[in-house]
Amino acid sequence: QPRLVARGLVKRHGATTALAGVDLEIGEEESLALTGPSGSGKSTLLHVLAGIVTPDEGTVALRGRRVEGMSERERALLRRGRFGFVFQHGQLLSELSALENVALAAMLDGEPRAYAEGLAAQWLARLGLAGDQGRRPGEMSGGQVQRVAVARALVTRPDVVFADEPAGLLDEATSREVLRVLVDSTRAIGASLVVVTRDPLVAGWCDRRVELRDGRLDP
Ligand code: ADP
Ligand code: ADP
Repeated sequence: QPRLVARGLVKRHGATTALAGVDLEIGEEESLALTGPSGSGKSTLLHVLAGIVTPDEGTVALRGRRVEGMSERERALLRRGRFGFVFQHGQLLSELSALENVALAAMLDGEPRAYAEGLAAQWLARLGLAGDQGRRPGEMSGGQVQRVAVARALVTRPDVVFADEPAGLLDEATSREVLRVLVDSTRAIGASLVVVTRDPLVAGWCDRRVELRDGRLDP
C-alpha cells in the first residue's frame, strides 16, 4: 500500500477554491515534485497532506491511518515525529545554535538531550556543517541555514518529508545544492518526499513529478 494516500481533497479559502478535488498516492520511499504556477494550490496541498490544514472535503491517510480525523494532539505528535518539514524561510530559532536547533527537534520527539545532541552533530557533519555547529542562524549564509533546516527535518527519521520551496529565496546554484542534499538525504533514510519546486532540474531528481493547475492535478 502507498505510504500516503489523498482522496478527493477540496479546500476553499473564502470564495477561492485552492484545491478542487485532488487524488494522490505517494509510495514508500518515493520522492514527488509538486509543480505548477503561482496560486495553483501547491502550498495548500502540501499543508493538507501534512495535516497542518484540514480539508473541507476528502481524506488523507498515512499507512492507512486517517490524518484529518485525528485529534489536534495526535496530529501534533505526527508532525513532530513521523513528518519532517523544510520551509522557505528556514524558520530556525534565532537564539539557538545550529546544533541546538537540530537537537531540539529530536528532543521534542522524545530523545534525551545528550543523545539528541549526538544525532544533531552527526546530521550536521553529514550535511557539510561540522564546523558550523555553534553558529546561530544570523551568523550563517542562506544556504547553510537551509541545510540546517534539512538536518532538523531529518533528525527524527520521519516517514515523510514535506518541503515548500525550501530554497526559494536563494540564488539558483545555492538552491540546487540544498535541494540535492534534501533529495539525497531523504532517500538515504528511506523517507518519502513531497517537495514544491519551480526548478525543472530539481523536479527531475525526484522519482515523479505532478503538476497542479487551478487546484487540480494535470492528468
Ligand atoms: P501556490 O502555493 O501554488 O502558490 P496556494 O496554495 O498558496 O498556491 O494558493 C492557492 C489559492 O488559494 C490562491 O488563489 C491563494 O491566493 C489562495 N489562498 C491560499 N491561502 C489562502 C488563505 N489563507 N486565505 C485566502 N486565500 C488563500
Ligand atoms: P508561498 O511563498 O508559499 O507562495 P504564499 O505567499 O502563497 O506563500 O502564502 C503565504 C501565506 O499566506 C500562507 O500561509 C497562505 O496560506 C497565505 N495566503 C496565500 N494567499 C492568500 C490570500 N489570498 N489571502 C490570505 N492569505 C493568503
